[in-house]
Amino acid sequence: AREGYATRRPASAARHAQAAEVMPGGNTRSVLYHGPFPFTAEGGEGCRLRDLDGHSYVSMIGEYTAGLFGHSHPAIRAAVLRALDTGVNLTAHNPFEARFARMVRDRFPALQQLRFTNSGTEANLLALGCATIATRRRTILGFQGGYHGGLMTFGLGGPGANPLNVPHPVLLAPYNDLAAAQALARAHAGDLAAIILEPMLGSGGCIPAGQGFLEGLRALAEETGAILIFDEVMTSRLAPGGLQEATGVMPDLTTLGKYVGGGMSFGAFGGRADLMAMFDPGRPDAVAHAGTFNNNTLTMSAGLAALGEIYTPAVAHAHNARGEALRAALQAAAGDLPICVTGRGSMMAFHFMAQAPRDAAEAAAGNQALKELLFLDLLDRGYYIARRGMVALSLMVGEAECTGFVEAFADFCEIRGALVR
Ligand code: PMP
Repeated sequence: AREGYATRRPASAARHAQAAEVMPGGNTRSVLYHGPFPFTAEGGEGCRLRDLDGHSYVSMIGEYTAGLFGHSHPAIRAAVLRALDTGVNLTAHNPFEARFARMVRDRFPALQQLRFTNSGTEANLLALGCATIATRRRTILGFQGGYHGGLMTFGLGGPGANPLNVPHPVLLAPYNDLAAAQALARAHAGDLAAIILEPMLGSGGCIPAGQGFLEGLRALAEETGAILIFDEVMTSRLAPGGLQEATGVMPDLTTLGKYVGGGMSFGAFGGRADLMAMFDPGRPDAVAHAGTFNNNTLTMSAGLAALGEIYTPAVAHAHNARGEALRAALQAAAGDLPICVTGRGSMMAFHFMAQAPRDAAEAAAGNQALKELLFLDLLDRGYYIARRGMVALSLMVGEAECTGFVEAFADFCEIRGALVR
């Protein structure tokens, strides 16, 4: 399958070789790398991507959830053009920023106040910084398979697994294992600043959290005095007010990113007003939070269109119902093969195993080579998913594309069934 992939993409191969001269690996986003070389996209429209070799794909990965609006949504385009006409980089407070902040605050129930960043990575670093300053403690409790940005990727643990890790002492528990989290937190209670998690593991395999797990962590945070942080950079799209709204479990701090900024560079962190107050520059003991592009008008305007005009609460409900239907159809197409399509709403992931994984170790035990085969086979049929098996349904993907995708997956199951079984 790899050879066929390479033979059909000579232009991408040549471009990759050139790119690798100036960037190690030919790119600056490690997640996009895969062997033998990633294809080069020359452009995109709606839910479609074109590569340099003349292939066209339906993007079923939707920029890892950030591409909820596709590549060329007219309302986003109009908003960005308006912002361009207003002038970029105003070096001042601007009206887009406050309007957008109010709109975001009004959507997510645990947000009393918030501040913007350029990425989800920064949002998480700032939320953790806020928790360590507020508690005067240093240690954080995270979960295996949690992805909190380029500087905070929690693997399964083990030396060298994560050399570029966050500058805090980190304890890692298995996801969905409340007893393990309690044991770790209680053993380090005197220095535990924060408990951070995605309320569904996203990159780690679209593994939902049990309700009791989330509620237990809320109680554990109270018990230990730690700050509970929900990283909703991905999961915020799963209900109008994110999974905090859908589960009713309220974190102290929330981080956001991806689609909320309308597909521009975006991040935000916020939560309890008493915690966020430390960032008020008018205070003598203020904690500085700077960033040249934090309030850039392009992102602020795109975000206003994204939440205000496009992804309204009704659309969010309908879109996630479509995602549930797609996931059910994929699972049905797998028949009795040992394949699980996990996830929730518009986010899902393939796992080559008979039982749905509940944590990252179980997910890692699935057959990873088959994931690559699925990725390459689907590309051949014109569907682009994440190399690791993830799908994030965008608003631009219509019913015809969903049906075609299920058919392509059903073909994979039929043709590769003997290998999968
Ligand atoms: N948190 C989660 C849950 C994410 O999925 C990501 C990005 N994949 C991030 C944080 C980091 O966001 P960014 O890439 O904008 O830094």
